This record gives sequence, C-alpha cells and structure tokens, in this order.
Amino acid sequence: MNMQEYIQEAEAALLHTYNRYQIVLDRGRGVYLYDIEGTKYLDFCAGIAVFALGYHNEEYNHALKAQIDKLIHTSNYYYNVPAIEAAKKLKKVSGMDRVFFTNSGAEAVEGAVKAARKYAYLKDGSTDHEIIAMNHSFHGRTMGALSVTGNPKYREPFEPMIGNIRFAEMNDLESVKAAVTDKTCAVLLETVQGEGGMVPATEEFLKGVRALCDERGLLLLLDEIQCGMGRTGYMYAWQKYGVKPDIMTTAKALGCGVPVGAFLMTERVGAASLVAGDHGTTYGGNPLACAAVDKVLDLFEANHILEHVREVAPYLEQRLEELKERHGCILERRGAGLMQGLVFDRPVREIIDRGLEEGLILINAGTDIIRFVPPLIITHKHIDEMIDILDDCIEE
Ligand SMILES: *Cc1c(COP(=O)(O)O)cnc(C)c1O
Repeated sequence: MNMQEYIQEAEAALLHTYNRYQIVLDRGRGVYLYDIEGTKYLDFCAGIAVFALGYHNEEYNHALKAQIDKLIHTSNYYYNVPAIEAAKKLKKVSGMDRVFFTNSGAEAVEGAVKAARKYAYLKDGSTDHEIIAMNHSFHGRTMGALSVTGNPKYREPFEPMIGNIRFAEMNDLESVKAAVTDKTCAVLLETVQGEGGMVPATEEFLKGVRALCDERGLLLLLDEIQCGMGRTGYMYAWQKYGVKPDIMTTAKALGCGVPVGAFLMTERVGAASLVAGDHGTTYGGNPLACAAVDKVLDLFEANHILEHVREVAPYLEQRLEELKERHGCILERRGAGLMQGLVFDRPVREIIDRGLEEGLILINAGTDIIRFVPPLIITHKHIDEMIDILDDCIEE
C-alpha cells in the first residue's frame, strides 16, 4: 500500500480525534525520521518532547531487547529490579524522595492530585479541599487531569469535572493569592507551560507561589511532564529556580518512547498521604518500562545531555531571534532551553504543512505558535538546517 492508501485505512479505522499530518512514519535515525516511502525529515517535534536521545539509540534499544527476553511484566504485587533501579536514579536526579510509576503523563497528574487531596484529608478530616491551577495550562485528557487543565474548550463538553478547582493566572501572584480560601490544599502549575504557549514561570512568580504555599500550608505541585528531563538544561526545570515542589510529575522523555510517567513527592508528603490500597496500576512501573527509564537516566549522564542542552539552546534562541527580525509576521520568541516557541500574527498550520513538504517536522502550540521541542541531541548544524527550511516556508 502507498501512503495515501494507508491514510485512508487509518481514517476508516481510527477514531478521528486528531487532524493528523499527511505522512505515515516508518523509522528513525538520530534526529531524522523517514516515512514509508523513504522521504527523510528533520524532526523538531521528537514525538512531542519525548525522544530526547534521538531515534535508534543502540544502547537504549539493546537494554529494551534484553529486558523483553527476560521479563516484560510482573504486576505491582511483586518487586522487580528495573523498577528499583529506575526509582533510585529518579530520586537522585530529582532530589525527591518517593516515586510512583504510571503509564502516562495524565495518570501521573491524577496520582499527584490524589496524593494532594489525601494529604489534606489526613490533616483536617474534611473532604471539600480546593486546588488552584493555572489558566492556559495543560495536564492531560483524563477526567482528573482535564479538570485542572486551564482551557475551557477542552473541558466544556465533558462537564461536570471533578469539583473544587479554581483557576489563576500564570505569572500573576496576586491572582493566585486571590484564589486561596480556607479550603485550598494545593497549587498546581507547569514550570514552563507547554501546550499553553511555551511560557516559563518567572522566578518571582515561582518563588512567590512557593512562599505562599509555605505560609498557608499548601502543597506545591509542579507538572514537569514536558519541561522536565533535561529540556531546559536542568533535569527538572524547577531546579533552576531554587524552589522545590512537594509533589511533581514527569513523563514524556522519561521513557524516551516507552509509555511511562511518574509522580514523585517529598518524604513529608509521602509519609502522610497515599498508603497501601489508596492507589494502584496494573502496568505502571513494569520491568520493560522501567528498564527504559533506567537506561535513559544512565544515558543522560553518560552523554552529558544537560551540558549539551545548555550549550546548544542559546544558539537555537539566537537563530530564532534572527528569524523574528527578518519576518514581521513573527511577534515573539519565548521558552526555555530546547523548549521554544515562535508566536505568529496568524495561524501556523500552513507554515508547518509547507515545512513537511520540505522535509521538516514542526508542531504547533495553540493555533498561532510554532513549537520547537527537538531531540536534546541536536547540534548547531541541525539548527541551521531547520532555520534554512523554516525561513523559506515563512517567505512563501
Ligand atoms: C503531555 C502533557 C501531559 C499529558 O501527558 P500524556 O502522557 O499525554 O497523558 C500532562 N502535562 C503536560 C505538561 C504535558 O505536556
């Protein structure tokens, strides 16, 4: 079958919840992807900030194959070595104390919300606690994660949401303070908003929210699903700010392609929230997924990924700034590290479609923003190659 035939079959079988780009991808090497007809694409999407180490990393592939031959699944009724190793390493790189592995980002958010509610419940015995989340945030599509997602368009058709969520404005501390009531138990935000438009928390805001939480006895929940795992040049984006969350979520690049996420907490929260029987998952933390996490964390260290991101990210910023200077339709560049956005004065779909025709994979964040979340192993050469193609696409 050719690509068009496959696409027709896809649209006849899959539920149409995405307006997909018109290519069928087949394989990857480094920072390049190939479709089933052999066309090569430079990939600045990385499976939405997932493939941090690029495609077809031999060591990673080998670790997964070896684990498949040993044991893929055990359930959480038993211990398994990959989960123990992965949890130990995740604790070390995050500075958090307790890890719960999930299958996805949304599930990590669900767990974080449950942990926060249980913590508050144990503290005062009441069951009407409130959580403050941010407008324009994105935390996933399951009912709990959707309830704290600050985009009414995503929520409305599925109402009622879980109750007692209040929304405040990112980088507006007064709006968070104004949302606090006697029932508030936690404040949740993405350290760098992804889907909402690549908006980093300002240092003043994050420190202010941390201080507010301390003062009012609230938990700070940071969603690091997109901005974590080295993307900003820090293992977790909050590490740059000198604040620490009480609970955090991680996923996307955590497994570099194997579906896995986690929520982590400090010992203080871990000792007074979820206990045996409160939460669970059949697949979460299974040996195959955790073998991936274990190897990913090893490779981050061995390949000095954080140092590399800190070295190449300023160059990406510089080239994007130059692009902005050349094109009046670009209003703003924003983001952190290798998580960047260009804000246009018009919808960007046409530019992204044109890029695809020229062998460049880009994605949007909202209708007017092009999002750059490439594999973390990109070099100056790849950035130049991307800018050249994008420059032409905007010109047209
Ligand atoms: C992608 C994302 C999620 C949801 O993760 P899934 O694995 O798609 O469920 C949650 N929060 C943020 C910040 C994300 O970027």
